[in-house]
Amino acid sequence: MRIGIDLGGSKIEGIAIADDGHERLRRRAQTPRGDYDRTLAAVAGLVRDIERDVGVQATVGIGIPGAVSPATGVIKNANSTWLIGRPLADDLARMLGRPIRLANDANCFALSEAADGAAAGADVVFGVILGTGTGAGIVIHGKVLTGVNAIGGEWGHNPLPAPKDDERPGPMCYCGRYGCVETFLSGPGLARDYSSTDPRTAEQIAALAAQGEPRALAALERYEERLARALATVVNILDPDVIVLGGGVSNIGRLYESVPRLWTPHVFSDHVATRLVRAKHGDSSGVRGAAWLWEVEPSG
Ligand SMILES: [Zn+2]
Repeated sequence: MRIGIDLGGSKIEGIAIADDGHERLRRRAQTPRGDYDRTLAAVAGLVRDIERDVGVQATVGIGIPGAVSPATGVIKNANSTWLIGRPLADDLARMLGRPIRLANDANCFALSEAADGAAAGADVVFGVILGTGTGAGIVIHGKVLTGVNAIGGEWGHNPLPAPKDDERPGPMCYCGRYGCVETFLSGPGLARDYSSTDPRTAEQIAALAAQGEPRALAALERYEERLARALATVVNILDPDVIVLGGGVSNIGRLYESVPRLWTPHVFSDHVATRLVRAKHGDSSGVRGAAWLWEVEPSG
């Protein structure tokens, strides 16, 4: 039995996956925002609740909106800021009496889709969450590529490639840089490009575009062309079999036809076999991928 925990900024979700890959149950709890000790207690409590219901002890994998710093062993890059600088994995391992695996939530998303989702069976997978931000993760032969700095796949804070004059320097990003991929390709980035005064979700903009509303159509076309440029650089470096999209923007169906057509001139190859697909498990990929952290090398 594997337990996966998705430790988000507002809720903690837990799942139990049986050895045959089937979901056994799911539980949710509120995240005690701003309180590290209570967050630890909430995660440990959720694990114990799940184990009581399924009747066995399980492996525990946890996805977080951040990473474990290889330099210090504590959490970094987390927008749940009360986790930053804390030895979360060690503390939970002590509380639960077993080793814990912890990974970035976008890496968990990519792992879930590579394990039994839209990229099942693919050797090299790039998983992208186009949501509030633009997280991404790399899975190679079923294993997350964490990287020496634990930032493998963090493509959202690269500059938008081949920027046009009106894309330079680009919007300021919370990371301190200008023109990051995230400022253009996150859901809020698309909404801002559509209108500064008429806030819309990605789905709403897509619906307006489908009705022929010219501003929405223009914003969506700019978005598709930018996504194509940004993913072409990924193809040129990683050459993945499959790129999986998740998050709110991934629900725009036309991306899967338009973007592969638009990335062709930017990819250094006569033919591009890389497939662009929509996530199979949707919002559940984070918690599922956390459980799958124990799929490979269970002794590690
Ligand atoms: Zn940035």
